[in-house]
Amino acid sequence: MPIHQLSETMINQIAAGEVIERPASVVKELVENALDAGATRVEIVTAGGGLNLIRVTDDGSGIPEPELALAVSRHCTSKLADDIHDIRSLGFRGEALPSIGSIAKLSIRSRTATSDSAVEIAVEGGHVSPARPAAANRGTTVEVRDLFFATPARLKFMKGERAESSATGDVVKRIAIAFPAVRFTLAGSDRSTLELPATDDTPEGRLRRIAQVMGKDFPDNAIPIDAEREGVRLTGHVSIPSFTRANALQQYAYVNGRPVRDKLIAGAIRGAFADVLPRDRHAVTALFLSLDPATVDVNVHPAKADVRFRDPGLVRGLIVGAVRQALAGAGIRPATTGAA
Ligand code: ADP
Ligand code: MG
Repeated sequence: MPIHQLSETMINQIAAGEVIERPASVVKELVENALDAGATRVEIVTAGGGLNLIRVTDDGSGIPEPELALAVSRHCTSKLADDIHDIRSLGFRGEALPSIGSIAKLSIRSRTATSDSAVEIAVEGGHVSPARPAAANRGTTVEVRDLFFATPARLKFMKGERAESSATGDVVKRIAIAFPAVRFTLAGSDRSTLELPATDDTPEGRLRRIAQVMGKDFPDNAIPIDAEREGVRLTGHVSIPSFTRANALQQYAYVNGRPVRDKLIAGAIRGAFADVLPRDRHAVTALFLSLDPATVDVNVHPAKADVRFRDPGLVRGLIVGAVRQALAGAGIRPATTGAA
C-alpha cells in the first residue's frame, strides 16, 4: 500500500488513547483547563460514572468566539510557552479537547467578560459543527457525553460505575489541594459527591483545604514539613504513625504546583516512614516541592503525571531527611531499638 497521511480524526483518536484512559482523565483535563482560565469556581457533574455525562462549568476567562473552533483543533493552545521547561499553566499541549472530541460527543459553551452573549460549538466523533449563539454567564461549560462511543474497544475496559466515580473523586481531590482558593463541587449519580468551599492560599488556608479532603481530624494528626536543600524547597504535612491508611492513595504530591504521581517521591515517603510504620500501613501526606523549572521535566508523559528530576538523589534525600527530622522533632522514633 502507498504511504498515506492518517486522517485528523484518527490522529486525534490515537492521541486520545494515551491521554484519555477513563472518565477521570477527562475530568482532569477539563478541570485543569478551568484552572488555567483563572476560575474561582469549578462545578463538576457526572452521570453513569462519567461514561454517560461529564459536565464541567467554570467562571474563568471564557473563550472568545473566533477562537472556539481553534480550541478543538489539534496542537492549538493559548498557553504557548517559549520554552518547554518554563510552563506555568497546567495544560500546554493543545491535545485534550480535540482528543475528547474524537471519541465522545463534546460541546463547549463559553462567554468572555467582554461579550454580551455566549457561543456554543459541538464536536461528535471528530466532526465539528459550526458555532451558534447560546445563553450563559461568563465562563465556560464543557459537556462530554457518551465517552468512548467512537472507540468501543476502550469502552470494554471500563470498570463499574462506582470504580470510575471514585477515580474521578480522587482526581478532583488531588487537584483541589493545589488550589485552595478555588471552590470545587462534584456531583455524581451515586454518593461520590464532594463539596470543597474556597479557603485561601495561605499556610492555614492550605491546611484547611487538606482537611476538607483528608478528613477534619487530619490537622490534629499531622506534622508540618518545611525544608530546603540546594534551592529545592519542600513544604506540606505528613500524618503521624497512628494516622495511616491501608493504601497510599492519600499521598498527594505536587511539583511547582502541579499534581504528580511520581515513583521517586512515593519511594522517598516510604523510606522516610520505614522505621516507624509497618509495611502494610501508609502515611497520609500532602507534599509540595518547588524548584527551578529548568531542573525538572514535567513533559515526560502525555497525562503529565510523571516528572523527571535532574538530580533525583537531591530530591529523595530532601524528602527522606525532612520527613524523618520532622517525625523525630515530634518525638516519634522507631519502636525497635537500634534502628537508628
Ligand atoms: P491546552 O490546555 O493544552 O492548551 P486543550 O485542548 O485542553 O489544550 O484546550 C485548548 C485551548 O482551549 C486552551 O489553550 C484554551 O485556550 C481553551 N480552553 C479550553 N478550556 C477552557 C476553559 N474552561 N476556559 C477558557 N479557555 C479554555
Ligand atoms: Mg488543557
